[in-house]
Amino acid sequence: MRESLRNTAVWGYWKDVKRYAEGTKKANSGWFEALTDETGWSWTIPRHNGTTSIGFVMHQNASNTKKGTVMADGKKPTLTEHYLDQLQFVPGAKELVGENGKMIPGSIKSAADYSYSASRYSGDHFRIVGDAANFVDPFFSSGVHIAMTGALSAALTICASIKSEVAEETAQEWHDTKVGIAHTRFLFVVLGAYQKMHLQAYPILSDVNAKNFDEAFKMFRPVIYGLADSSKELTDAKVQEMMDTCRSFFDPYVNEEHVKAVRQRYGTEVIQMESPVLGRQKIKDLVKDDADAERVLNKYDVLRVFSDDVEATHMGRDPLLGYIATVKRGELGLTKVVAEEVRVSDAQAK
Ligand SMILES: Cc1cc2nc3c(=O)[nH]c(=O)nc-3n(C[C@H](O)[C@H](O)[C@H](O)COP(=O)(O)OP(=O)(O)OC[C@H]3O[C@@H](n4cnc5c(N)ncnc54)[C@H](O)[C@@H]3O)c2cc1C
Repeated sequence: MRESLRNTAVWGYWKDVKRYAEGTKKANSGWFEALTDETGWSWTIPRHNGTTSIGFVMHQNASNTKKGTVMADGKKPTLTEHYLDQLQFVPGAKELVGENGKMIPGSIKSAADYSYSASRYSGDHFRIVGDAANFVDPFFSSGVHIAMTGALSAALTICASIKSEVAEETAQEWHDTKVGIAHTRFLFVVLGAYQKMHLQAYPILSDVNAKNFDEAFKMFRPVIYGLADSSKELTDAKVQEMMDTCRSFFDPYVNEEHVKAVRQRYGTEVIQMESPVLGRQKIKDLVKDDADAERVLNKYDVLRVFSDDVEATHMGRDPLLGYIATVKRGELGLTKVVAEEVRVSDAQAK
């Protein structure tokens, strides 16, 4: 269990809730907001059948305190009463519920203790993927895509093992590392956001796996710490730097207009996903005092690193543990990287 994300969610389903940004390109997007009493955050997500899921996430301590607080009638609230009470802290969601929104009776559910990680994700003749392997947090909805990343990694490492492209032990190690990296990166995005919302009251260093940390942020290392820093030691300062960097991933301020302006001013290449990571200093030098452009380019830098975890085709882009994934239907597997390819990839990272 990760202590820093020992959260509890309580959620329910509603009818006739208004859609966020109706009539715009963003219609049907989820709406997420921090609780105004700073105890957590909430989601409002439209569903396929016209109903809406509205949920609240709080650290277990805050949730227990609220659930244990007796009401005017001297009784502790039921789960439904506790749930409905949270609506007062989410003006945005309340506005979407409006006059007509109706909670579906009996639909309230809760789940707790869900940020965890297995000690390994593979063994002889098995791979573990999805929620069975690891779950970070519902924030940023990483669950499904990490499950798919893990499934692809499992498939190609099993194929590589069957075809004797690598020893089974190597295939296992590759899968463990790949899944570990995807989780570590998302862990940082989530922790960074929680810190920003003042929800991060627990030390997080103990929740970060040092081995995965280094692999997960290899691409960022030279641009944040400089090429001279080869130390793998994980410190509070490094964790903080990485969280600050990762926060750009979901920077809500960056919109299409900002991206368009950057494309016009600095060219298309800087916002292409295939371009190399620029790094904070290069970005600062390039944009000078253009704060909007800096946010756009910081976001694109982080997106490039995360695209490994999000885009199936990108999984075969960079070598991992000396092997590159073949991500082609019918040809899944692992191929040993020749020295030349490693050099090119290192140069790109720099
Ligand atoms: C309320 C809520 C909202 C969420 N919202 C999002 C979101 O917006 N975006 C997002 O990305 N993620 C979201 N998640 C997380 C996401 O649902 C999971 O991370 C994801 O479904 C994990 O996929 P999985 O295949 O590992 O597990 P699951 O989707 O849980 O699949 C496991 C399957 O195995 C079956 N099963 C279990 N035991 C057995 C057995 N013994 N024999 C046979 N079958 C069995 C189960 O019935 C289930 O169908 C949400 C989760 C919750 C609870």
